[in-house]
Amino acid sequence: MTVQHAPAPELCLTTDVYAAIQTRDPGQSEFHQAAHEVLESLEPVLARHPHYTHHRILERLCEPERQLVFRVPWVDDAGHVRVNRGFRVEFNSALGPYKGGLRFHPSVNLGIVKFLGFEQIFKNALTGLPIGGGKGGADFDPKGRSDGEIMRFCQSFMTELHRHLGEHTDVPAGDIGVGGREIGYLFGQYKRITNRYESGVLTGKGLNWGGSHVRTEATGYGTVYFVSEMLAERGQDLDGRQVVVSGSGNVALYAARKAHELGAKVVAMSDSDGYVVDEHGLDLDLIKDIKEVRRGRIKEYAQTMTRARYVEGGSVWDVPCSVALPCATQNELDENAARTLLAGGVAAVAEGANMPTTPRAVRLLREAGVAFGPGKAANAGGVATSALEMRQNAGRDAWSFEVTDQRLAAIMAGIHTTCLTAAEAYGAPGDYVVGANVAGFVKVADTMLDHGVI
Ligand code: NDP
Repeated sequence: MTVQHAPAPELCLTTDVYAAIQTRDPGQSEFHQAAHEVLESLEPVLARHPHYTHHRILERLCEPERQLVFRVPWVDDAGHVRVNRGFRVEFNSALGPYKGGLRFHPSVNLGIVKFLGFEQIFKNALTGLPIGGGKGGADFDPKGRSDGEIMRFCQSFMTELHRHLGEHTDVPAGDIGVGGREIGYLFGQYKRITNRYESGVLTGKGLNWGGSHVRTEATGYGTVYFVSEMLAERGQDLDGRQVVVSGSGNVALYAARKAHELGAKVVAMSDSDGYVVDEHGLDLDLIKDIKEVRRGRIKEYAQTMTRARYVEGGSVWDVPCSVALPCATQNELDENAARTLLAGGVAAVAEGANMPTTPRAVRLLREAGVAFGPGKAANAGGVATSALEMRQNAGRDAWSFEVTDQRLAAIMAGIHTTCLTAAEAYGAPGDYVVGANVAGFVKVADTMLDHGVI
């Protein structure tokens, strides 16, 4: 049956949609920033395809399908009751179940979860896999908390969230502050409450109980595969290059590892207190031991490795490099940092983190001709491997590390090609920002049209 639609009462261009978001959701600055960055790429698409405007695709895309905000009470080791706020934004399910990580960090609020969920829609579309977009988390600070406290918090969080999840409905994973330990506690509580061993309800699981090889490494590895593709497009590679990585969490550790494996020298990494520089190249096993085993601070590297230098505070982007991989958090690489990087001869920047580069910094880097890989494309390897984990769970299968890594590399190469093709088609050859936004949007928008007005 063909559904007849009345003409749209007025033309809704991207600026109108953006103004409406600002009015409707005041104070959600990160969400405004993420939406603006996508919307400004879409003008040529809307001009060529007026039916998207006619069917109000932009307005529908910018409004989450469902937003959950809930109380998370728990008891600390001293017996005191604590109360945090939990979130899950189920943004768009056009392409599949909502998919996106959980972030536990004191800065988490609804605007941050919405920015992350919005980005996730397009990122997930770019992977070519059947996953919608969502994100969640809590304003809980896991730093300094005992294992018992982390477990009780995760159990309380899942006691509320479980009713909204399911392998065909909504499938969370990790993000800042949520790694293998937290996913384990969350999965255990889901299993206990539902009495179902539903492996596909969470990703990032342990290898003994439904996890996938390479999921831990995937975001960092994928980011470096993407950088390699961008450099190869220019007839270059990573061999011998000086690399700086911000952060020293999951994404940063494995981005640094893969860059090293491909012949680069990783000279600096950071955490939220400061950064370490080691001109001879960082000992990545030592960093991994400090951050993953001891759960310590990056400054401990310079205490053990006396040839290294620790800089308290300051910006890791002051260290000259030819490849910069921001892998910590949003808006960590600003205009000043971009200028410093350009002065130091940076050739490529790829976002391992979500929206780590401010809009002005992105503009400076693109205008200077730096190969710039936006997070939607460059860090999509994590969620892509999560989707591969879901596929293995559905088939009660387990692939080897090598097979999974090859699939990840192929997916990243595919995303790179998709971005270039879309950028070329819409008059911005070589621009990965435009390419990622347009290609992700068109796929989701066309599917929303197929599904009718819902
Ligand atoms: P982790 O919690 O493992 O690591 C985060 C790292 O960033 C830590 O080193 C942390 O330092 C540092 N950091 C956090 N906040 C700040 C800050 N305000 N200033 C400086 N450093 C900071 O998180 P992930 O590695 O998982 O995530 C990092 C980024 O990658 C996030 O943007 C996330 O959304 C994105 N991402 C993650 C994916 C994944 O699979 N994990 C997938 C795709 C994107 P400290 O210990 O001092 O807090």
